[in-house]
Amino acid sequence: MNIDTPLYLDGEWRPAIAGKRIAVSNPATGEVIGYVAHAGEADLALAVEATRKGFATWRATGAFERAKLMRRAANLLRERAEGIAAIMTAEQGKPLAQARDEVLKSADTIDWFAGEAQRTYGQIIPARSPNVIQQTIKVPVGPVAAFTPWNFPINQIVRKLSAALAAGCSIIIKGPEETPASPAELIRAFHDAGLPAGVLGLVYGVPAEISNYLIPHPDIRKISFTGSTRVGKQLAAMASQHMKKITMELGGHAPVLVFADGDIEAAARQMAYLKFMNAGQICVAPTRFIVQRPVYEAFIEKFVAAAGKIVVDDGSKETTTMGPLVHARAVEHIASLVEDAVAQGARIALGGKRIVRPGNFFEPTVLRDVPVAARAMNDEPFGPLALITPFDTYAEAIAEANRLPYGLAAYAYTGDASTVIALGRDVEAGMLSINHVGISLPEVPFGGTKDSGMGTEGGSEAIESYLETRFVTVAGTL
Ligand code: NAD
Repeated sequence: MNIDTPLYLDGEWRPAIAGKRIAVSNPATGEVIGYVAHAGEADLALAVEATRKGFATWRATGAFERAKLMRRAANLLRERAEGIAAIMTAEQGKPLAQARDEVLKSADTIDWFAGEAQRTYGQIIPARSPNVIQQTIKVPVGPVAAFTPWNFPINQIVRKLSAALAAGCSIIIKGPEETPASPAELIRAFHDAGLPAGVLGLVYGVPAEISNYLIPHPDIRKISFTGSTRVGKQLAAMASQHMKKITMELGGHAPVLVFADGDIEAAARQMAYLKFMNAGQICVAPTRFIVQRPVYEAFIEKFVAAAGKIVVDDGSKETTTMGPLVHARAVEHIASLVEDAVAQGARIALGGKRIVRPGNFFEPTVLRDVPVAARAMNDEPFGPLALITPFDTYAEAIAEANRLPYGLAAYAYTGDASTVIALGRDVEAGMLSINHVGISLPEVPFGGTKDSGMGTEGGSEAIESYLETRFVTVAGTL
């Protein structure tokens, strides 16, 4: 694999004007596998100028045309899924099957938003006079700047890109420098589908330099960011100073409430799969397992058995079910969380160590009886670490589920209808999945509350944050 990812500006692939590049490594081997162009201020100025022109073109393109072009791009992505998956695995580390799945689901996301493009309805509001029509119309908010991370190199971009294009906005994406080449293939699908120049831009570089340039720029009207809560708060503050609309998808620390009347077999199997998917580098990864005491030991046994079957290796091997972490510093982070939890009394039920080989590997790890004071119970691990603690009463479970400032995803297993109703009311999370894993589909909301962010990137509301509502009232004269 040899990566050489340029910038995409004004409909053309080009190197950075100053010729700078950033090295890209394979996290499974530690080897440098190529480079990505590093945008400077001159490139960003070009990107903004192009997006301004692109917006004028795209907003004047009818919704049906926009939708047709988007569907063409989705089909190209499907045709190219195999090749793109191999690139993603080489730069990000996830197993090939998960990379393929990401590409195909991203094509579905484009299709779904293409449909939404055709349904940005306004309203007719009953007027006080029969001679007056009061209407609202939806117009695209304007050029968007989007900042996306490396954990789902394509999926994190496609939600923002598809919503923006469906609404009639142009968009500049600051992609992830760790994993630049697979997102470039997403952009290529839109280029090859015939997207007009300037509607879409792709840049890489120093994240803070790019956000400091784009967010305050008067031509940029909306900011969308996915990443850590710490960075999200900084960018949201900057965007507010310039009165820009924002969507923020930030960190999480998802609780899993396993009640004694739930199907613990299904809970163990489904949650072990989701916990270690993408090596735990998922904002909605289940992390705090809060298990009712009568089934505590049985759940741990089943969960550990399921997690113990995970095959950790280079993601490019078809047999691998968990790859490396993206950074060496992520391995250090998990190791220090485990060390701290054990020092505070947690017991290791599985794993617990880094895997000594080239690349950034850590064992699938399960800690039990973890005290709430342990750092891992409070800081987002963003890695292959499951934390299990017991509870007795419903009130205790809810108190633990809601204890942290995060409120992204939550999961629960129960066979009791009253508990289901109460959970929907009581759990402070943007998404709650009960008795199955059913989140992160294009047609349902995806977003958090509290420190996990604001806005949704899925469902019928997602396009709204790329639109403005204008009110037009008109009086007849006859
Ligand atoms: P980080 O905080 O350094 O970066 C997170 C993301 O924000 C990266 O994509 C980075 O490029 C971007 N970023 C950082 N500073 C920026 C700035 N000033 N302007 C614009 N973008 C900026 O963390 P990391 O080590 O890359 O990832 C680890 C942490 O990030 C995790 O603990 C997790 O909380 C968070 N994260 C969340 C998601 C998610 O899906 N919500 C994805 C990736 C990372």
